[in-house]
Amino acid sequence: MRILIKNAFLVLEDRVELGDLLTDGRTIAQVGGVIDGPCDKVIDAKGCYVFPGFIDTHTHFDLEVGSTVTADNFVTGTKAAVVGGTTTVLDFATQERGMTLMEAFHKWENKAKNSSCNYGFHMAMSEWNDARIAEIPLMIENGVTSFKMYMVYDNMRLSDGVMYEAIKYLAKEDCIIGIHCENDDILKARVKELKAAGKTGSRYHAVSRPNIVEADGVGRLMDAAYLAGGPAWVVHLSTKEGLAIARRARERGQEVYLESCPQYLVLEESMYDAPDGAKFIMSPPLRSKDDQEALLKAMAAGEIDWIGTDHCSFTMAQKAVGKDDFSKTPNGGAGVQNRAEIVYTRAVKGGYLDIVEMGQLLSTRAAKLFGLYPRKGALQAGSDADIVIFDPDAPHAIHAATNLHNCDNSPYEGYEAAGKARDVLLNGQLVVENGQLVAPGKGEYVHRDRCGRYRK
Ligand SMILES: [Zn+2]
Repeated sequence: MRILIKNAFLVLEDRVELGDLLTDGRTIAQVGGVIDGPCDKVIDAKGCYVFPGFIDTHTHFDLEVGSTVTADNFVTGTKAAVVGGTTTVLDFATQERGMTLMEAFHKWENKAKNSSCNYGFHMAMSEWNDARIAEIPLMIENGVTSFKMYMVYDNMRLSDGVMYEAIKYLAKEDCIIGIHCENDDILKARVKELKAAGKTGSRYHAVSRPNIVEADGVGRLMDAAYLAGGPAWVVHLSTKEGLAIARRARERGQEVYLESCPQYLVLEESMYDAPDGAKFIMSPPLRSKDDQEALLKAMAAGEIDWIGTDHCSFTMAQKAVGKDDFSKTPNGGAGVQNRAEIVYTRAVKGGYLDIVEMGQLLSTRAAKLFGLYPRKGALQAGSDADIVIFDPDAPHAIHAATNLHNCDNSPYEGYEAAGKARDVLLNGQLVVENGQLVAPGKGEYVHRDRCGRYRK
């Protein structure tokens, strides 16, 4: 199948160029200029931007959390993803204690069958010992070259010493480890204190883990990585204080990768006071307008590497478990469909980013670091034909009811987006046409190379 996209604003790595793009089978055959070659289908992209397929670096589909499981599995979550322009998700496969890394990998391979976008896995580790370390070459062989550890959650939490060892070991393999940065001891003490005072509503979730709780975690990660001589990757950065610490680490020569999320750019702490405030219970929590502004300015300055959603959805019934105790509410929200339209509306229309930077933030830099470039993250001859045709002039409001996710709520309910993904090509096939998913279930496993450490 040869698809010819005509009259597009092609979003290249350093400029936008008006021209055509031709695919041939699974790859891009030709980019730029006027192309009239023989083809099977022509798509007129007049007035639209054509991007390399977007990559969501942070999803949790089909994840068991306590006694419940996320509302979205891979089938529903990836439908929402691809309609929003995301052609690859990197989900967190999770090694529970007592499980091998290979068992976790196979478990996630099974979960991800019938996905509607391409998918790869980071491996979240809950143990670091000789047996698990011995499996890391196997992970790399299977295309898993990024890992994650948590400073929080009793079933996952590991020590700073382990984090130091892991960063050091994985750096030698050109693999990277992302860290959920928060001070667990202090936030637990504050939860206890708030509950004892009868402060159990949703807003106290944010009170229990203020900015400094994240900043402390970021600081410990930066110091561990400094001493280990390896890269630091902060997942879901949400605070100006955490940002300042990461900035200082870069100033002393460290290799630091920063991920933030749409929720920290457009939602704020006061939303916990809404009747459905529980839907905003996620960690890190929503912050202030000052934090949003600091993150947006950092994006504008190229300091934020990519935006992931941290999609981890729960229905209002699941959230209601915590109605008398915020600390029992399952953490997370739905967002996988809305990342590009929110970044476009808030950051591009808001004057912080240009279109080229949007492509870098949503696709190219993630492809580079996570071992996918130039197969993905680039509009180049020979790259995979994962392509988004994005309509910058398509005002609409986000509603849970019209999102394809399997969740009865959206943290972005009512958000007025200015543009949206119109058509999406996945592995050379047109899977989304005029905003409708026309070919579900076409996603494939993405075997990743070692990390392309572009800040080394
Ligand atoms: Zn997460």
